[in-house]
Amino acid sequence: MSGTFFIFVTGGVVSSLGKGIISSSIGKLLQSSGYRVTIQKFDPYINIDPGTLNPYEHGECYVTEDGMETDLDLGHYERFTGIRTTRRNSMTTGKIYQAVIDKERRGDYLGKTIQVVPHITDEIKRRIMANASEGEFDFIITEIGGTIGDIESAPFMEAIRQLRWELSGRTLSIHLTYIPYLRAAGELKTKPTQHSVKELQGMGIQPDILVLRTEKHLERGLLDKVASFCNVAKDCVIQSEDLPSIYEVPLNMHRQGLDARILEKFGLKQEPEHLQALAVWEDFVRKEKSLTDSVTVGLVGKYDLQDAYKSIRESLHIAGVHAGRKVEIRFVNSETFTPDALAGVDGIVICPGFGRRGIQGKIDAVRYAREHDLPCFGICLGMQMMVIEFARDVLGWADADSTEMNPKTAHNVIDLMEEQKKITAMGGTMRLGTYGCDLSEGSRVRNIYGCAHITERHRHRYEFNNACRADFEAAGMRCTGLNTENDLVEIVEIPTLRWFIGTQFHPEYATTVLQPHPLFLDFVKTL
Ligand code: GLN
Repeated sequence: MSGTFFIFVTGGVVSSLGKGIISSSIGKLLQSSGYRVTIQKFDPYINIDPGTLNPYEHGECYVTEDGMETDLDLGHYERFTGIRTTRRNSMTTGKIYQAVIDKERRGDYLGKTIQVVPHITDEIKRRIMANASEGEFDFIITEIGGTIGDIESAPFMEAIRQLRWELSGRTLSIHLTYIPYLRAAGELKTKPTQHSVKELQGMGIQPDILVLRTEKHLERGLLDKVASFCNVAKDCVIQSEDLPSIYEVPLNMHRQGLDARILEKFGLKQEPEHLQALAVWEDFVRKEKSLTDSVTVGLVGKYDLQDAYKSIRESLHIAGVHAGRKVEIRFVNSETFTPDALAGVDGIVICPGFGRRGIQGKIDAVRYAREHDLPCFGICLGMQMMVIEFARDVLGWADADSTEMNPKTAHNVIDLMEEQKKITAMGGTMRLGTYGCDLSEGSRVRNIYGCAHITERHRHRYEFNNACRADFEAAGMRCTGLNTENDLVEIVEIPTLRWFIGTQFHPEYATTVLQPHPLFLDFVKTL
């Protein structure tokens, strides 16, 4: 196959329809058909990246291996396809404007008047195409954030319209919309979808395929009606009903022929043998549906919101499926924590975070776990709280703290390190992306990973203070993962406890559906 095909996924009527899941499902299906795929997200907001966005508004910030802070949808893309994304896969209006303004300042435009069309739209097009430059992919799926009709998404729509014209025959437009059910009337309504498609058509984009989100099953007659009103072939109107698990969505889309229609549109054949890859996915879903044994994990954090710790939740769930256990997740609010909140919990995860809020609850939860030998998994800030708790209670350093919380403390067991300042000297202050880590001989983590060297993704500023390492080791907290380059402590564990491991990195970003992360898998198996 020569040349790349482009699929654009837009959404209409309302937000939160699950465009990310549909894009991921399309990626999975095309990948299963033997094609090389990547999925990228273009967000119309003006922030440069989602790194500083409030988790209450945007959920978790996901991090790519090359250190880009991105929208959580990239987590879905990676978990579904197992394909690693890069900084090119995440774009915002802010970044696009920044690039155009930088060029203007450098004089690249030779005194021309800079306008949304063509300068902003050209920059959008350039970035949509960026992943195609090396011929690595057969398909590039581009998901556009927001909803059709939003003022800020207009330049993206214009860029797509132009690309469809320029690359005729190599692009496909998939529009995800909503069919509401009006209980009082007892009817499903197609009008919002018709309006949404009209809006898209008004921008010069005729969708090729419609995916209708619905809470109730849609009969053929309704799908045909939508097809005829929206100028779309009947077999290209597909429904996406609510399902018990997001991982069933690719199978549901496949049953309705979404992948077959996409391939047909591009004149490509569905290779039957490639579909055997889907059997492995089916197997996962079958296992997921048949879980009987369940365990409860307390998620100790400050954001009581499904999306705030998305990758951790999915990592626990996926590890659970592979371990044959349904993981029930109980959110434990660290701001109001008392040990009663852990009644009936089989293990806890101390979540990542920034700032002081809810810190004491995390320390108290660690103390309870350490004293009662409750399996405990600390991630990033969670690991830092394990270290502080140990210093205060076992080493007897009552004022032990992180300089993030208490810059003046004498026992700054978590501190900004010189090495880290060097790494982040390029403007940003965070250690972001993948770093190598050596696992010490005889440690629990080396046994779990089954190897001596790993790479994992980071997103933090503060580090274990190496000046205190000997004190911790002597008292029973071992530093069993050290940064390959500079000896920063990446993992701590207390080997005498059932499962007490803290990681400075974020293992949750690396989980995929077919490959659970070894730490999550081992943690869930221990419960
Ligand atoms: N706030 C801590 C730091 O900056 C931890 C960050 C995190 O949990 N991602 O080091």
